[in-house]
Amino acid sequence: MAADSASAEPPERFALVAVNRPVFGQFHYRVPGALTDELRVGSRVAVPFGRGHASGVCVGFDAGPPPVTADRVKEIRALVDREPVFTDETLALARWMARYYLCPLGEVLATFLPGGIARASRAVARIGLAAAPGDVEAEAARLERRAPRQAALLRFLLAAGEVPRAALQAEPVYSAAALQRLRKAGWLRITHGPAAAPAFAGGGPAAGATPPALTAEQTAAIEAIRRSEGFAPFLLHGVTGSGKTEVYLQAIADRVARGRQAVVLVPEIALTPQTVDRFRARFERVAVLHSALTERERSRAWLAIRRGEVDVTIGPRSAVFAPAPALGILVVDEEHEATFKQQNAPRYHARDLAVKRAQMLAIPVVLGSATPSVESYRNALEGRYVLLRLPERVTGRPLPEVTVVDLAADSVSRRKLSVMGRTLEAALAETLGRGEQAMLFLNRRGFHTVCLCTRCQTPVRCPHCDLALTFHKARGRLLCHSCLHAIAPPERCPECGDVEGLKFLGLGTERIEEIIRHRFPGARVARMDSDTMTRPEAYREVLDRFRARHLDILVGTQMIAKGLDFPDVTLVGVISADTALAIADFRAAERTFQLLTQVAGRAGRGDAPGRVIVQALDPRHYAIAAACRQDFEAFAARELEARRTFALPPFTRVMRIVFAARDEDRLRQACRAAAERLAPLAGGDVEILGPVPTPVYKLRNDYRQHALVKASAPAALRRAFRALRAAPHAWRTGVQVHVDVDPVGLV
Ligand code: ADP
Ligand code: ZN
Repeated sequence: MAADSASAEPPERFALVAVNRPVFGQFHYRVPGALTDELRVGSRVAVPFGRGHASGVCVGFDAGPPPVTADRVKEIRALVDREPVFTDETLALARWMARYYLCPLGEVLATFLPGGIARASRAVARIGLAAAPGDVEAEAARLERRAPRQAALLRFLLAAGEVPRAALQAEPVYSAAALQRLRKAGWLRITHGPAAAPAFAGGGPAAGATPPALTAEQTAAIEAIRRSEGFAPFLLHGVTGSGKTEVYLQAIADRVARGRQAVVLVPEIALTPQTVDRFRARFERVAVLHSALTERERSRAWLAIRRGEVDVTIGPRSAVFAPAPALGILVVDEEHEATFKQQNAPRYHARDLAVKRAQMLAIPVVLGSATPSVESYRNALEGRYVLLRLPERVTGRPLPEVTVVDLAADSVSRRKLSVMGRTLEAALAETLGRGEQAMLFLNRRGFHTVCLCTRCQTPVRCPHCDLALTFHKARGRLLCHSCLHAIAPPERCPECGDVEGLKFLGLGTERIEEIIRHRFPGARVARMDSDTMTRPEAYREVLDRFRARHLDILVGTQMIAKGLDFPDVTLVGVISADTALAIADFRAAERTFQLLTQVAGRAGRGDAPGRVIVQALDPRHYAIAAACRQDFEAFAARELEARRTFALPPFTRVMRIVFAARDEDRLRQACRAAAERLAPLAGGDVEILGPVPTPVYKLRNDYRQHALVKASAPAALRRAFRALRAAPHAWRTGVQVHVDVDPVGLV
């Protein structure tokens, strides 16, 4: 009898739920009778949490007793979707990610989902401006003192164009009250429902639909990928224009023919329209995930991918989670790019995750670049990745001739540095004279870089950040590039009150454009940077005009450095090769090398030979010199040597812990508490630096300190993190703490 009743009523099963909240661990919930049949591992649920409720994912079941007394266990409120949105595979990837990046599983799972799935029922609100830019600018200036938040919001919308409400809410300038006021005053236009069409909907099978005859190197690379079995990481190192994209296309075509899917990660969809077009030309079922998609469009694409209706998914870093049911290959184009690293939690690196996912699925992954990251290159040198090389441009076109110019010697006057030295100016005149096109590159936007007091040597700074403001002439304002705070240039130095000595120093793309227009009045010039490219279509428009030769000179920031192919560009000028070297970051030399190599690769892609002129104050720096010789191996050898000497990645693992607070005292107390716990861990191969103030100590009104933990293995980083979590005083209210494993950028 007793045995019978026991089998009739099975022991209660509890669901384990990872909630989308910044808390670690998974929680026991009771499964209501109505859901027992439907609830499965991987399903999303709504649960009561703390005093409110949260969304979460069922990550398992537990028959045993929960850690709290059973009557305190709460019940799952609802099941969000019938079909589990996570497969065993994506759950396993999420678990790995949570452990490696020291991030709560629930938060990791939330990043896997496009917002539209999470909130499919809600209409999408987009917020834009309801008045002409000039009027808005004037209003922002008027509101500056009285209502700085409203002013900042207006300026943000001026720069960003129409944005989904959710995206705006994630911005530091967002304030619900300010939004409400501006809306009442009639400055905003709020639209609902389906928004703008996908930015690059139609590529159309035009040029590139039929594969070209391959070069011997391309054939070898494609064959190696095709023949690979199981997990097979490849580093495809090919100079720009060497046909890497063709290798991706054919390696993918091979997997698609075998009924598998592909995921292609690109640094920024908006900057790679040509790459996207080539994929659309070659494959029929392509999904492009980009930030201009509405939530609904995104979730539609995501569901199609999950149903196996998409062969090739192209997207930025979040596309690494694309739920393709039979993923057969992953490609990471421009694998060295910093944009693959997410800058807020979970701070994952999409390239590293792609390699991990390939390993878990036992499939090939191809990392491609003209300038591989030293991390990937070392993996190849040590035999962990297979190195595939495409050393020459297809059709044997030579790489452009690169001249490094010492700007101090090349300046027109001996006493003052020129923006454009004699060499570059003469070359530009020649190029225009021949009716050819040129690109001028400077890694800085704005007109002048800083407004400096010559008496006290202090630049005019942002009151909210520790950063010098940048002068933007078209708007007549000094602008903070971090929080978008804007002010009129002051009459006197805010520091010492001096009225005489305020001077504008440095230069940005806006000023270059003006100088060019002045020197070459007949030339047709356009500028491309985040000030001018505020709409996704603007980018395409300028590129189309340039390609159609309605423009002679394109001036721009790194926006013009990447992935563009203009056969008629015969001159590329780099205004200042040193700007990126000045940044306080151990990757500064690597960035400089990559940027210069990329820029140089824009020249001479057509029949006419190309020429590149690089102006520098320190022309002998190894990053500049090697980039000008297009000598990746020499650069990498030198850089790896330096990294080894100073025990920097890839020779060590780094975890960065950032503490941020409005209140400096609280910050100091938290840092002291953290230091007490961390310091004893130092020793052996573990090194603890800091906490010390960050290079930009104040950012968006927060004071910040950071500590670096260096160790040879991730386990030691996890230990340090556990020690930190056990230090209650490091987690004071009012102090934000975040951890970043494998940080990119230390500002
Ligand atoms: P990468 O990605 O290395 O910069 P691409 O794949 O974009 O190089 O190739 C550069 C150009 O050469 C493109 O216009 C491409 O269509 C063309 N191309 C690629 N492979 C071949 C080939 N085997 N024969 C002729 N043209 C090719
Ligand atoms: Zn600021």
